[in-house]
Amino acid sequence: MLKNDQLDQWDRENFFHPSTHLAQHARGESPNRVIRTASGVHIEDRDGIRLLDAFAGLYCVNVGYGRQEIAEAIAAQAKELAYYHAYVGHGTEASITLAKMILDRAPANMSKVYFGLGGSDANETNVKLVWYYNNILGRPEKKKIISRWRGYHGSGLMTGSLTGLELFHKKFDLPLAQVIHTEAPYYYRRKDLAQSEAAFVAHCVAELEALIEREGADTIAAFIGEPVLGTGGIVPPPAGYWEAIQKVLKKHDILLIVDEVVTGFGRLGTMFGSDHYGIEADIITIAKGLTSAYAPLSGSIVSDRVWKVLEQGTDEYGAIGHGWTYSAHPIGAAAGVANLKLIDDLGLVKNAGEVGAYLKAQMSEALSDHPHVGDVRGEGMLCAVEFVEDKDSRRFFDPAKKIGPQVSSALLAQDKVIARAMPQGDILGFAPPFCLSKAEADQVVAATARAVKTVLG
Ligand code: PMP
Repeated sequence: MLKNDQLDQWDRENFFHPSTHLAQHARGESPNRVIRTASGVHIEDRDGIRLLDAFAGLYCVNVGYGRQEIAEAIAAQAKELAYYHAYVGHGTEASITLAKMILDRAPANMSKVYFGLGGSDANETNVKLVWYYNNILGRPEKKKIISRWRGYHGSGLMTGSLTGLELFHKKFDLPLAQVIHTEAPYYYRRKDLAQSEAAFVAHCVAELEALIEREGADTIAAFIGEPVLGTGGIVPPPAGYWEAIQKVLKKHDILLIVDEVVTGFGRLGTMFGSDHYGIEADIITIAKGLTSAYAPLSGSIVSDRVWKVLEQGTDEYGAIGHGWTYSAHPIGAAAGVANLKLIDDLGLVKNAGEVGAYLKAQMSEALSDHPHVGDVRGEGMLCAVEFVEDKDSRRFFDPAKKIGPQVSSALLAQDKVIARAMPQGDILGFAPPFCLSKAEADQVVAATARAVKTVLG
């Protein structure tokens, strides 16, 4: 086994890490934790330090680490057939079975699944499909995509544009011109605008209507949103939000892409976030929880309505000019089949709902009265704590104080619990694996209360 020092040197000399302060990392100023193994909700580094991962990697290891059933399915697939492509009608038992399992679980009006590798490429596919759809229908001007500020949809050129976070635009010449942003359904941050959730929903609707009016409905193809804002701060929408937004979209014949990369396959305590909020999507994006990240795989589930037009397009113009070498990769598909079986067999969707509700209730009880905790919120196995300098005005701390990152560092240093300092605002996010027990939830809450006390008194 290589010595830690050697690995550390090679890492800093050779490895271009994503979402990392490159200069600090190369200079050795930021920590370099090399993970060696993992089991259940715990990961272990090369020094034998065991950490409770209350963010499931990047909210993706939904069934927990070390599941032998999935590892064995991957190994068996690799031995029998590691790869064959899915172009011109090719498939494997695993990819065909997985497509059926996804459609069996998806909302009723869904028709087919296109497979990709990760959430970003799936959303790139979705935008291309929506453009193709409108071209086939003879509406070449109807192409703009509406996204929400604080939405997260990936970090490619189009998907980074859809993402409504400044960090992903700055110095990358994004967003692209075809993307326009509207109000985030973030009531806590906008209480100054509206006296009640219902009034705030009316405000979001008015903003959306005004944007459509300004741009012209005949130039807008689709609206994209996550059922619960994820990377933008883990923010469940106010009651009635999705119902009201869908009415506007229907009125203007704008398609709805529901990005379920985080919420798909159980995180909200229902199979899809769309089930939870009564959303009727035209296209659903899936990734992360599809394989619990045991192998990279994503998908775009398209509705009957979209599918019919895509078929019409290929009758007119020939095979669809869209495909990845690794679409429906057999190893990813085998991981997906084993993962979805495991979710059913262990009743993990129910557990995500129950233990998630418990985690949020306990977190709220432990922290809501703290003078610098402005909001404790969540839905299913998603929870967030938002820190403010002043509770009444909801005034932020000076970002230079990095309160969110400080609390997450204290949590790690003191109690070996991983939570994520979300990229915008002082928000600590939790998205544990669905197999979290109530005792582990208690541990996470106690550790968080201690970390908050250390940093904020
Ligand atoms: N959509 C959502 C809602 C996500 O949370 C993410 C990733 N965090 C993505 C898309 C992009 O997925 P990937 O990082 O796999 O490209």
